[in-house]
Amino acid sequence: MSRSVVITGSTSGIGLAIATAFAATGDNVVINGFGKNEEIKAIVERLESSSKARAIYHPADMTKPSDIADLIETAGKTFGTVDVLVNNAGIQHVEKIEDFPIEKWDQIIAINLSSSFHTMRAAIPLMKAKKHGRIINIASAHGLVASPFKSAYVAAKHGILGLTKTAALELAEFGVTVNAICPGYVLTPLVEKQIPDTAKARGMTEEQVKTEVILKAQPTHEFVKAEEIGALALYLASDEARQITGTHISIDGGWTAA
Ligand code: NAD
Repeated sequence: MSRSVVITGSTSGIGLAIATAFAATGDNVVINGFGKNEEIKAIVERLESSSKARAIYHPADMTKPSDIADLIETAGKTFGTVDVLVNNAGIQHVEKIEDFPIEKWDQIIAINLSSSFHTMRAAIPLMKAKKHGRIINIASAHGLVASPFKSAYVAAKHGILGLTKTAALELAEFGVTVNAICPGYVLTPLVEKQIPDTAKARGMTEEQVKTEVILKAQPTHEFVKAEEIGALALYLASDEARQITGTHISIDGGWTAA
């Protein structure tokens, strides 16, 4: 039977790859995020053409709790419940703490951390009622280790791991698992956009940032592929993964082993 899967921030990058993976297995997906109308329409059509599953788009802004409540309510009304919630929306800003714009700090904490509290708050009653559910939080290697100039991002991603563990304990007897995926670098717009700022903050060229900062962090010296994270999310959502809860899985080319 088709599951009902909500993926925040899925008009691009990792979220889109996760939505694509679930849709391809026949699950109904709710996608979310920003983008041009015609691009979003094309994504929905592509997701629906990959299987018999349905795809809908909800424009919730992850900085707005009332939008987020409406996202989950819409998913529940359209597809009967929420079986899988993937908290993926995220942004980045690279700057030293003393120059970090206050509004950027607030925005990153809202999107990368608080939005997951709001989606979970709304979706948990639906999952508890069915005694089944999967919550997958897309954290980061930066949920485990820090890098300079990414204070808000690193704080939010460390916070997500704490939220993941707390929710897992609260839901352990309700058939609902809660886990985090900690990716290393994936070449998405989020990473591409930070290359010029990192170059400025570190006094390097953009090419040096790619090889001497980004890929240097990963012992494999290769980017993680968004599709590989999609496959991992599918596994965490499977029945076989029912005893995996309250933890994180790294997919970072060995970054956090060092
Ligand atoms: P991306 O920029 O390609 O996609 C981000 C998505 O979030 C987009 O769909 C965007 O529209 C959406 N979004 C941004 N602000 C939003 C808001 N206010 N409301 C709703 N949606 C919003 O980025 P990505 O690299 O695919 O990142 C996805 C997640 O993966 C993020 O949480 C990011 O921190 C995490 N991550 C990324 C990497 C990486 O190297 N790319 C590594 C580790 C973790």
